[in-house]
Amino acid sequence: MSPAPVRRAARGTDPLAYRITPSDPHAHLFSVVLTIAEPAPDGQRLALPAWIPGSYMIREFARHVVALTARDSRGAVRVAKLDKHTWRVAPTTGPLRVEYTVYAWDLSVRAAHLDATHGFLNPTSVCLRVLGQESRPCTVDLEPPPASVARGWRVATTLPEAGARRGGFGRYRAVDYDALADHPIEMGTFELARFEAAGALHEIAVTGRTDVDLERLTRDLAPVCAAQAALFEPRTRRAPFARYLFLTTAVGEGYGGLEHRDSTALLCGRNDLPWRGMTTATEGYRTFLGLASHEYFHAWLVKRIRPAAFVPYDLDREAYTRLLWIFEGFTSYYDDLMLARAGVLPHADYLKALARTISTVQRGPGRAVQSVADSSFDAWIKYYRQDENSPNAIVSYYAKGALVALAIDLAVRARTRGRASLDDAMRLLWQRHGRGSGGRSPSPPGLPEDGFGSLLHEATGVRLDASLARWVDGTSELPLARLFAPLGIALTFAPADRSPSLGVRVATRGAELTIATAYAGGAAQRAGLSAGDQLVAVDGLRVDEKSLKTLLSRRRPGDVVEIHAFRRDELLRVEATLDAPARSEATLQPDPKDNALRRGWLGTRSGAAPAARVRSGARARPSRARAAGA
Ligand code: ZN
Repeated sequence: MSPAPVRRAARGTDPLAYRITPSDPHAHLFSVVLTIAEPAPDGQRLALPAWIPGSYMIREFARHVVALTARDSRGAVRVAKLDKHTWRVAPTTGPLRVEYTVYAWDLSVRAAHLDATHGFLNPTSVCLRVLGQESRPCTVDLEPPPASVARGWRVATTLPEAGARRGGFGRYRAVDYDALADHPIEMGTFELARFEAAGALHEIAVTGRTDVDLERLTRDLAPVCAAQAALFEPRTRRAPFARYLFLTTAVGEGYGGLEHRDSTALLCGRNDLPWRGMTTATEGYRTFLGLASHEYFHAWLVKRIRPAAFVPYDLDREAYTRLLWIFEGFTSYYDDLMLARAGVLPHADYLKALARTISTVQRGPGRAVQSVADSSFDAWIKYYRQDENSPNAIVSYYAKGALVALAIDLAVRARTRGRASLDDAMRLLWQRHGRGSGGRSPSPPGLPEDGFGSLLHEATGVRLDASLARWVDGTSELPLARLFAPLGIALTFAPADRSPSLGVRVATRGAELTIATAYAGGAAQRAGLSAGDQLVAVDGLRVDEKSLKTLLSRRRPGDVVEIHAFRRDELLRVEATLDAPARSEATLQPDPKDNALRRGWLGTRSGAAPAARVRSGARARPSRARAAGA
């Protein structure tokens, strides 16, 4: 939905005003006062969203509203609950004041969290929608927490300021509810660094106990940001925003990110951040850079270029699209590729990461059952609600979507001898469905459900409709080995290890070894074993994870093993015939000869140093600012 132009109510005040106070950090409660200048005369309805864009699951944020009351100039007004997330205030005259508290104890990027160390909130968890007035502008007053915990707290958000005081507490403004919902807010004693890239100010706020090396982080992120802006806007090389914020929360262990138009909320393990004195990039840091790159790419793809089904977002219920293989899959393809093209990820490491994605898809029997289009549509009940049978029943529109993007890219490059690529389709997507979104003129239309094939043809001159039908709507294997050949890269598959396969994924809980997944058609399933069964003994010997591995390594495909297992409290005895190990581990091996297609794909000649023109787009000027005591 395009933000409506700022309109003021007749009296010169904003029609909707939120005041948010982290009033009781120990009880994890935000207090909110919502003032509505012109409530609906027949009774104002209020609602919290059922989901947050970017995370395709019904979460029913209203379940964390603890208490809600309303009053007008004459006193208390009756409030009735209409359904799980909608309230209706009895008809009133004049401005309405709604007061409520929200329990915030979800340390994820999707909801809200508050304790004495920091506060984080998505407005979708905290700010009620005033139904019928969602297109009106609003103000948000952010109040500091009680003085006992407020030492050094300040605010990080990309909400436009409208009179913020010291430390960022104070007044902000949003042009409508969609805009408000798209700006997460962090408050606390985070560390902050700034850099310029792609014509925009970039900020990184890091919350949590870390010894993060912010200089290193800004030095690595700046060329990635510049490369992404240059992909979509090769002429101006400018980002579609003036300011961008990476809101990062570091915890012991965690991983997640949620995209917004001008910011992203990231959750990571503290050891995945670069530390002062780190010399070589760790695998965890590479993963973190991939996550940051992924969410940043979403600033174009899915936040500005949207599926038509998301224009506007229906926040009351599931918004169905069969296109998440584009919006998440292509983003997953470009996240690491942009690290490689920016020179942050050596090409050899990029090919290893890509081979891991290929292996991940190859290991899942669900790839032969569900298409990526179906996976997109059912994200709400399948990808986001996985269980023990998910590997057998679903395919990830992230991982396989990334491989579909790869297949399209390689096919177009080969057919046009490198003159066109998926990059051209991204630029046309941007010109037709993204550029100008959120500005003063009407927003561009979203991508229709059946719109990609013809757009790809128009952008590249290559028609892949028949292939797309197989790759996207079908479940046949992607012909990646054939598509890699013209780039001088050999794709081969081998078993992960030489042991025969029992066809299970196991998990250790306490002293118990349990089957987490019995793979479809695997040895264990054929023998009658199931997810949840506790493995007790194999061939008469008690097993744990290590001894089971050792035992299997000394058997051969076709051997029969005797297994004792508990299902609930009942002992089972079965005989399983072991299978040959699956050849699911992919390797990508480039030949030593120079290859123009490969150079065009990875973006640099040497594969080690970043392309000069990419580097020149980034003017990294890292600065460091610690939260000051107050
Ligand atoms: Zn994503």
